[in-house]
Formats: sequence, C-alpha cells, structure tokens
Amino acid sequence: MLQQVINNIVSDLQQIQKQLATIEGRVEHTEHQLVQIDERLPVALEPVTTGEGGRLVELQHHYGSAVWTDVDADAQRRASSLCYRCRLFKPGKEENCGIAEYLYKGCRDADSAVTVTRCKHFQVHMT
Ligand code: SF4
Repeated sequence: MLQQVINNIVSDLQQIQKQLATIEGRVEHTEHQLVQIDERLPVALEPVTTGEGGRLVELQHHYGSAVWTDVDADAQRRASSLCYRCRLFKPGKEENCGIAEYLYKGCRDADSAVTVTRCKHFQVHMT
C-alpha cells in the first residue's frame, strides 16, 4: 500500500518535471524571439521631429545624463511653470513646497522634467 502511494507520487513528480521542462523551453523560445524583435526595432540617435507641428526632440545632457528633450518645451519650462511664480516655491530649502519637492525628487530619480501648469495650492508672489 505504502509502496503504491510512493510510486504514484514519483510518477506525479516525473510528470510535473516534464511539464516544467516544456514550459522552460517555451520561455527560452519566447525570450529569444523578444531579443530578435528588440534588435530589429529602430533606435533613433539623431534628433527627430515628432508630434503636432513637428516638434524637435534631441538628446541633451542634463545633470550628467543623456536625455531626450523636447527643445522648445524645455526652453519654456521655467516661464510656463506656476512654481516659478509661486511664493511657496523655495528650491533647495527645507521649507520648499512639499508638492514641488516631491516632483523634483521624482524627476531627479527618473532623469526627466515636468512643468506644473495646474496647482490647487498656488500662491502668487505679491511683489
Ligand atoms: S504650491 Fe503648487 S505652484 Fe506653488 S510651488 Fe507648490 S507645486 Fe508649485
């Protein structure tokens, strides 16, 4: 009786092992196909124009990283951002706006930049 149970377990394990080998083979095959697809994808290294009106996007270096940059939008970033006209914006200081600090850290970690065009807490400078 016990021997029969052991035989059944061994048989089940052998079946599972075969199925795992099949799955492993399929995963390897899929990974290989993905690498082939990825190698065929064109990668732009030269400036490109994209979007409405053909906006120029080029590789620029910011804070030690090469990052694709929408040239016109980036040039307008300070002028467009509410933060630069907000009295709560104190970059580099402990009392900096929490939202601005959160966005700054996210952008720093992701090598990206955002422009704040909406904010519930904006307080205009009264100078
Ligand atoms: S309150 Fe809004 S506009 Fe002002 S600094 Fe913070 S995120 Fe920018």
